[in-house]
Amino acid sequence: MSSLSLNNIKPTVASAKAFLERGCQKMFINGEWVDAYDGSTFETIDPGTGTVINEVAKGSIAEINDAVAAARAALESDQWHNMLPVERAQILNKIADIMDEKIDELSELETLDQGKPLYVSRWAEIPGAIDQFRYFAGIARTIEGQTITSSIGYQPEGKKTFSYTLRHPLGVVACITPWNSPLVLTAMKIAPALAAGCTIVLKPATLTSLTAVRLVEICQQAGLPEGVLNLVTGSGSTVGEALAMHPDVDKVSFTGSTEIGRRVIKSAGESNLKKVQVELGGKSPQIVMPDADLDLTIPGVANAIFFNGGQVCVAGSRLIVHKSISDQLVEGVAKYGREMVMGHGLDPKTQMGPLVAKSHAESVKKYVDDAVSVGAELISGGHILGSSGCYMEPTIVGNVEQDMVIFKDEVFGPVLTVSVFEDDEQALILANDSPYGLAASIWTEGLSNTHRIADSINAGTVWVNSHLMFDAALPIGGWKQSGWGQESGHQAVSNYLKDKTVTSII
Ligand code: NAP
Repeated sequence: MSSLSLNNIKPTVASAKAFLERGCQKMFINGEWVDAYDGSTFETIDPGTGTVINEVAKGSIAEINDAVAAARAALESDQWHNMLPVERAQILNKIADIMDEKIDELSELETLDQGKPLYVSRWAEIPGAIDQFRYFAGIARTIEGQTITSSIGYQPEGKKTFSYTLRHPLGVVACITPWNSPLVLTAMKIAPALAAGCTIVLKPATLTSLTAVRLVEICQQAGLPEGVLNLVTGSGSTVGEALAMHPDVDKVSFTGSTEIGRRVIKSAGESNLKKVQVELGGKSPQIVMPDADLDLTIPGVANAIFFNGGQVCVAGSRLIVHKSISDQLVEGVAKYGREMVMGHGLDPKTQMGPLVAKSHAESVKKYVDDAVSVGAELISGGHILGSSGCYMEPTIVGNVEQDMVIFKDEVFGPVLTVSVFEDDEQALILANDSPYGLAASIWTEGLSNTHRIADSINAGTVWVNSHLMFDAALPIGGWKQSGWGQESGHQAVSNYLKDKTVTSII
């Protein structure tokens, strides 16, 4: 069984403590910080201890209506509409600069609210969020249309046609984000949307709203005009749904589960046919070929599923390993998991923190228990530790059949299933047997294996001898039921633009 060490659970950065001590966190509408109009609040909990750390204003439809109206007015204001790309870029860079200054505070807040180990916040996710703002600051000045030579032949004698495209900001964008990597996933939407000249209503996940509040304060400090970025906190079923249904929202950019993504698409279709981008769930395979370098592969496979407690959309949750090395590999990954230091995210020794909430840990454990009850083998882990009820052990489940729920569903926890193959064809059948198609990895020393399998995997991202490699310049998006569209990469700004073709006779 893994051991749990619970030490050093208080924030140490003075500004993080001051943020938490200032009372209920407010919403931001039309440049003003406001309480919920009816005074409602909700509690936010440190999953490491199960204690309440802050209260947050609980918005409703009235606040959504005002936030959308503010975003619409800002979109049409001279100040934002006529702002030069270089000025938008300066604001984006300034946001990144302030985030850099506050990186320790943001990291502590993210860890305390979400549970993830401090090293994940401090060295991966907050820097990743900052990088999104810097990257799209550069992209803000590269938004260009085309000139097109058409083949129109019916213009008046002696005349010709001249055609070009213009790119306009898409309009008012609702950004709805999940709880697993709150700040970086928010930055992946807000940075390109602002670079494109859109205005925004942001609705973060209820479980993890704190860094969204802090980010919006930073954007205000960086000089973003009033109404350009609005924040409404509150429950998905009210404020999220109201945004997806709102007739004056031009686009909803959603990251979350496939189930809620479907509802967002339906709401958008039933209202004003707003544009929809959905970045959804995954069940990513890790294929380990017989020639894999096990010294690299064992920690790599373990990290791909245990990083952030497996609460990663692209977590490598399905191990598909060649029979000849399966025992050695699985034992190595199980040992890695058993030796991981589990503890409160703010403890610098912690390698795996709590899951985001007790109810989520219970749901993860239920997947494991149900699989075992239908014949799967619990190879390691499988228990919840600690009094907060959120610490789920790194877990490996073997003897998994393709028709088992644990092979198909996104568990979203530190749970690896093991399937064994004997030839490449079988490996690909297993890897592609999923309604999801977000990511995959291949562990091999063979060049031809790499390219043949990478070509045949149905997923939007393939990593080779690695997993979880992110960069603001690398597009990421899902195939199949993992989503519509891609984020990051220079084309992500096009998600927030609309094109117009102008043709004239000259
Ligand atoms: P979720 O339950 O789908 O919630 C996502 C967001 O939608 C939250 O802000 C939620 O608000 C809101 N919401 C809930 N009901 C809504 C409705 N009817 N209309 C509009 N919005 C609504 O997802 P989650 O549990 O937070 O996050 C985990 C999921 O996100 C996993 O499936 C993971 O794979 C996926 N994810 C995907 C990517 C990607 O890039 N593909 C990245 C990260 C995570 P509340 O918090 O108030 O419920």
